Amino acid sequence: MRVVLKECLWESMGDELLVLFDPREAITLGDPDGQVAALFAELRREPRTPAELARSLGVSEADIAGALDVLDSLSLLEYEEHRWLGDPELDRRHFSNLAFFGTFSGLDRPRAEYVRRLRAAHVLVLGVGGGGSSLVQSLAGLGVGRLTLVDRDDVEPRNFARQFLYRHADIGRSKVDRAAEWVREYDPSIEVRAVDRWITGPDDLKDLLDGVDLIAGGLDGDPEAHLWVNEAAVRAGVPIVVGGMTRSQVMYYSVDPGKSACVRCDWENRAGLEDASAEGFFERNRAAITVTNTLIGPLAMQIGSLVAYEALRYLTGFEPPVAAGCFVKLDLRAGLQPERQPFATTPDCPVCGS
Ligand SMILES: [Zn+2]
Repeated sequence: MRVVLKECLWESMGDELLVLFDPREAITLGDPDGQVAALFAELRREPRTPAELARSLGVSEADIAGALDVLDSLSLLEYEEHRWLGDPELDRRHFSNLAFFGTFSGLDRPRAEYVRRLRAAHVLVLGVGGGGSSLVQSLAGLGVGRLTLVDRDDVEPRNFARQFLYRHADIGRSKVDRAAEWVREYDPSIEVRAVDRWITGPDDLKDLLDGVDLIAGGLDGDPEAHLWVNEAAVRAGVPIVVGGMTRSQVMYYSVDPGKSACVRCDWENRAGLEDASAEGFFERNRAAITVTNTLIGPLAMQIGSLVAYEALRYLTGFEPPVAAGCFVKLDLRAGLQPERQPFATTPDCPVCGS
């Protein structure tokens, strides 16, 4: 197969070759005889097989194989046919998604494969309100192939501060029905199902988990709803990514069943705090203080995009999840400075304990 050099810049400086691919990382390669620079120039000219490169440069195929290994370890190479899905219409539709994955691809990590995984994925979205509205839009843009949307609410005027799936003409309509319609109009190739249902416990989610790769979003209404979702997901072995907010702080976390601690682990730990202590008062009441929903558009979009990006990590594996078993909080007062708060672990957790 023919090897391609990714978009990068290079320049010889003394005995070294300076390479710029990801602006966050400087790459310096030893190149006393200029052979590495010659290899870069040869690869840039057109896609080449290792045998063609060896012939053009007058070196052994073993030398070329060694050099290509080094460049691949720096994520600079791909195989020509791995860059595209192979269907011109799909390649146009996913042009920017493919370009994104080009940062993470390699000879054994085809960039098209990441998009194929998204197209084959089924995500259960819980809640199509504030965060859920932009989450659905992000997942649709990524080209997730199947979406099941769950909510029990109708569109109201007060939703317009943050729920951009809905139009004025939708007031009074079921949110999930309208959200599913939005997805179908946006990209008819996405299979979408609307489930207009109140979730009152883990059992209400059971029949929705068949074939689902990931649960994303978050239910409001009952302070224990996140525990129901956690329980249903961990029992089914399906990862969850959840987002939320308080005042001007956004927060998200994920649970990777069998690998990370779960939400119940953390909850069990808090439940043990002394009732009479100040810490106990604050911890017991933190969840209860959410009175009027103060979520506005910019915060809702922040939550939706953080949840969608963590979902992308689980669905494609382009990098490991960053919020597994951990609350990641971003405070807008400090310009989105992140604070990580790992879940307390509970070895005998009734949900994930062995
Ligand atoms: Zn647990």
